[in-house]
Amino acid sequence: MGDSNPQPFMVSRRVLAVAWLCLGTSVTAGGQESVTVIRAARVLDGTGRTIPNATVIVRGTRIVSVGPNATVPAGARIYDLSTLTLLPGLIDAHDHLAWHFNPQGRYHGGSDDGETEFEGALAIAGNANATLRGGITMSQSLGSPEDKPLRAAIAADQIPGPRLLTSLNPLSERSGGPDTLRQLVRQRKEQGADVIKLFASKSIREGGAQTMTDEQLAAACGEAKAVGLRSVVHAHSAESMRAAAMAGCSQIEHGVFATPKVLKLLAERKVYFDPQVCLVFRNYLDNRAKYQGIGNYNDSGFASMERALPLAARMFRQAIATPGLHVVYGTDAVAGAHGRNIEELVCRVHDGGQKPMDAIISATSLNAQALGMADSLGAVAPGKLADLIAVQGDPSRDIEALRRVVFVMKNGRVYRNDH
Ligand SMILES: [Zn+2]
Repeated sequence: MGDSNPQPFMVSRRVLAVAWLCLGTSVTAGGQESVTVIRAARVLDGTGRTIPNATVIVRGTRIVSVGPNATVPAGARIYDLSTLTLLPGLIDAHDHLAWHFNPQGRYHGGSDDGETEFEGALAIAGNANATLRGGITMSQSLGSPEDKPLRAAIAADQIPGPRLLTSLNPLSERSGGPDTLRQLVRQRKEQGADVIKLFASKSIREGGAQTMTDEQLAAACGEAKAVGLRSVVHAHSAESMRAAAMAGCSQIEHGVFATPKVLKLLAERKVYFDPQVCLVFRNYLDNRAKYQGIGNYNDSGFASMERALPLAARMFRQAIATPGLHVVYGTDAVAGAHGRNIEELVCRVHDGGQKPMDAIISATSLNAQALGMADSLGAVAPGKLADLIAVQGDPSRDIEALRRVVFVMKNGRVYRNDH
């Protein structure tokens, strides 16, 4: 499984190093790293393996051993989850934690709707907490400027939330010509972006046709690669997907109008593909009154999203049947969807025909690889950071078990234990 861009690895390590320095919580008062022992009915290790009756030992922030028979170290804190399934914390490759409803219950699209900054900040912190409690321990936000202080607050453990990567403000065809785009990519990096987000096509509510030119895409994705950042591209039409793949971009989002031919091209060019089957569309439709009348959230926009549901499921079936294509898991969670991210995995299995274990792999080890963080995240294995969740039932048999998250550990620290 090739990594289309080895360089972001360095950036990811830097982010992790910051998180490591900020989180002193796993060190005991005496300066020794705490030891935690977790017993589980089974461990799904994130790479497709199931380990029955497993014991996982965590020292400080890292997993040190996984196996059926472990000697419990003296003084260890023990979590007996022996009726539950333990798996890696889930990774969402496409999130929008800053999107929220204002105190009037309407989507806060940034315009002046009377919401105070303080109310907005609390709503965003609430989204981060709901996301973590729902089993997502790592999230890539694509993206908004609010993500930067949010990322810092979570890394400093001021508020609970998933580890966060962000693109900050995305770039589009309106950002400027190739030279300006190159400069903006460098500027985003200086501003602290972990990844570059581009809009290469219109929204699904506006037909999804290509917007950025091939030259603009080549400039932005080429410069991102040159400065060691991944590039993630919103693209619905097959032509916009093709242009992004030919421009050397790292990952393509959505692709509702993908064709078998362009999916094959993505596989050949080792471009990660992140389609959505249901959550983003259903969330808009379920919360229609909260969005209706704002921007392109009009009658024809909602009709497009209704039409997209069967198209998206059919396209997803084609994607997972495309040999060699890396289909990653990203929800595109917007206001109303935070904390329900796993619903996208449920419908990928139920409506998109994916095997439950493949869905779990896409949200764990494959996503860690796509983010360039496979050395630290995405698997229950010695040496990995201790991001772990436990659920009632066995999601490798019944994906709906992911709705029953009762335990969440991030960086060796327990954030939820309803067991
Ligand atoms: Zn999005």
